[in-house]
Amino acid sequence: MKIKAAVTPKTGQPFEITDIELPELDSKDVLIKVTASGICHTDVSGRDTGMVNPPSVLGHEGAGIVEEIGSEVTEFQKGDHVVVSFASCGKCDNCLANHPAHCRYYAELNLNSHIDQDTNKLVSRFFGQSSFATYSLVSERNVVKIDKDMDLALAAPLGCGLQTGASSVLNVLKPEAGSSIAVFGVGAVGLSAIMAAKIAGCENIIGIDLHDNRLELAEELGATATIKSGKNVDVAEKIKEITGTGVQHVLDTTGVDMVIEQAIASLDTFGKLATVVTDYSLNIPLEILALGGNSIVGTSQGDAIPQKFIPELISYYKKGQFPFDRMVKFYEFDEINKAFEESENGSVIKPVLKINY
Ligand SMILES: [Zn+2]
Ligand SMILES: [Zn+2]
Repeated sequence: MKIKAAVTPKTGQPFEITDIELPELDSKDVLIKVTASGICHTDVSGRDTGMVNPPSVLGHEGAGIVEEIGSEVTEFQKGDHVVVSFASCGKCDNCLANHPAHCRYYAELNLNSHIDQDTNKLVSRFFGQSSFATYSLVSERNVVKIDKDMDLALAAPLGCGLQTGASSVLNVLKPEAGSSIAVFGVGAVGLSAIMAAKIAGCENIIGIDLHDNRLELAEELGATATIKSGKNVDVAEKIKEITGTGVQHVLDTTGVDMVIEQAIASLDTFGKLATVVTDYSLNIPLEILALGGNSIVGTSQGDAIPQKFIPELISYYKKGQFPFDRMVKFYEFDEINKAFEESENGSVIKPVLKINY
């Protein structure tokens, strides 16, 4: 079928909204009329780094309404309201052990998108969805049914960035009530982590960032202290002033080598650092880890099972415990290039495109 999509014509070039062809529905696919799509950091990498094979269609925080289902789809029907998350194979050992975000085929299923130039057909879809489009064809496995009373534009970013931040705290670090946590970088992922730390009952929740506007929002969303980082600021020392002996849990969302070195130095004994970023090259003094009994753990999507975790986040939102609407700014579909620009210059935390809304 013919759809409209924001196409990335070549690596690093602006989006162009044009007509493309969507392939036929497979027996286990769901066709979704896209209501909205969040914009996440990985979309910026997809546009600019050669991660995908342009011409391509990015977008991996889609939400919408089920339009059609394949013959073997059992969990969904036409008219269901859904959020779309990452793709996983469902067959490998990690998928079978309920760790779909660590699917052995994660990279090939998610970090890919291509439009065949002879047929103008979208032959591989970003995160199995390519949601910068009026319709999205998605495997049943990636789809999460949500309540019809939840705003379908607001729900879109739950599928990646917000899930990653909140689940890295609740399902990876698992801080005990009364414990301490520091979140380095309070963009959409970090702010979600701060709200989750408050839900977990952490006593000291410290947000670290370069931008004042983000630190202010971090305090409004649950940070009990904030630190403005900078060249001459010893963040680890400041964290120790606040906590006494260091912090028990750290989430790094920045991927900046110097930041993670400070993050490690801020850990208390037996402290644990989780990182969601893929592009580190680190030079860590291992004695810090050994003498402190500290550990570092990497996580993809906070190891979440989207069908379980996204409805949990929505229920926290409804109870006022996960007010993620505070960081969202909406744009019309044809403002996609402006939305990327405002996200990259730091003025907007979580841009969401309204498509068929
Ligand atoms: Zn798998
Ligand atoms: Zn993402």
